[in-house]
Amino acid sequence: VLFRSVDLISYIYIWNNYRLFELPWDSPWTWYLTLLGVDFAYYCFHRISHEVNILWAAHQVHHSSEDYNLFTALRQSVLQKYTSWMFNLPMALFIPPSVFAVHLQFNLLYQFWIHTEVITKLGPLEWILNTPSHHRVHHGRNPYCIDKNYGGTLIIWDRIFGTFEAEDAKVVYGLTHPVNSFDPIMLQLRPLAHIWNTFWATPGFCNKLSVIFKGPGWGPGKPRLGLPEEIPVITGKEVPFNPVLPAYLNCYAVVHFAVIMDLYTELLATVTTLSQGTVLLRIGFIILSLASFGLLMENKSKAGILEIIRCLFFIGVYKLGYFRSQFSFLGYAYEV
Ligand SMILES: [Zn+2]
Ligand SMILES: [Zn+2]
Repeated sequence: VLFRSVDLISYIYIWNNYRLFELPWDSPWTWYLTLLGVDFAYYCFHRISHEVNILWAAHQVHHSSEDYNLFTALRQSVLQKYTSWMFNLPMALFIPPSVFAVHLQFNLLYQFWIHTEVITKLGPLEWILNTPSHHRVHHGRNPYCIDKNYGGTLIIWDRIFGTFEAEDAKVVYGLTHPVNSFDPIMLQLRPLAHIWNTFWATPGFCNKLSVIFKGPGWGPGKPRLGLPEEIPVITGKEVPFNPVLPAYLNCYAVVHFAVIMDLYTELLATVTTLSQGTVLLRIGFIILSLASFGLLMENKSKAGILEIIRCLFFIGVYKLGYFRSQFSFLGYAYEV
């Protein structure tokens, strides 16, 4: 309930207890309506995620990538699912959960392929569908891109509600104030710390509430979404954060990342057979490893010490049998 199915469980609860009527699950019209309903709910959720600071703190993770490719689609907040579920609940008053669940997945899957620079324009489809071109604008930090193109599958909601912008000048991706870090814990949680500090530093009760519920660019005396002139100007000389590393460090990171990927796929394959403690141990270790790789990629001095601790911990726990890997050479380490 806590980690996986918050949107489905809340939906089914409303459907079981409060539904007003039941649309037939096997009617094509129910399916068309659900497609529109899920996508409109996504538009509302997505727009509010940009316009309310505390929700932006979760959603900004997806926007922190300064490159734009299919991996950007996978860069997601761990907190966001706790804010998105409520936008779907009105549909639970009349749309069967089975139909909703299918469309929720369709909507999510659709948004994967649009994170690409390979596809330029899609002709007349650009009028109706959210396309790579439209979503590139959404990921831009050029002033003309800010708070535009919130659509999921369809772009019609942006055209109706005035948030549409066509792709024009070359898009520079990422946040207006870049995080400049590869540390996943930092990327996920830093905005919350920023809100916390701003909350206490801002005088007045109403102003404190505004720090949480108005836009991320808001400040006392400013409009709800901040001042457009405060958005940093794009010079065209911006380069993605990418510290130069010695080749051996890159090789080291690739090899160890492969081991962690294997640990992750092994965890997915066997999760139902493992104790909760083992699952949490493995998840914790994967998070620690990714944080350590992040520091390594930033060439931080403490990365070396963290890596030594991480590797010793891995060897110990592997020997005890709590980790398993397809890489058989790991087993040989004990025989050498
Ligand atoms: Zn967004
Ligand atoms: Zn995106």
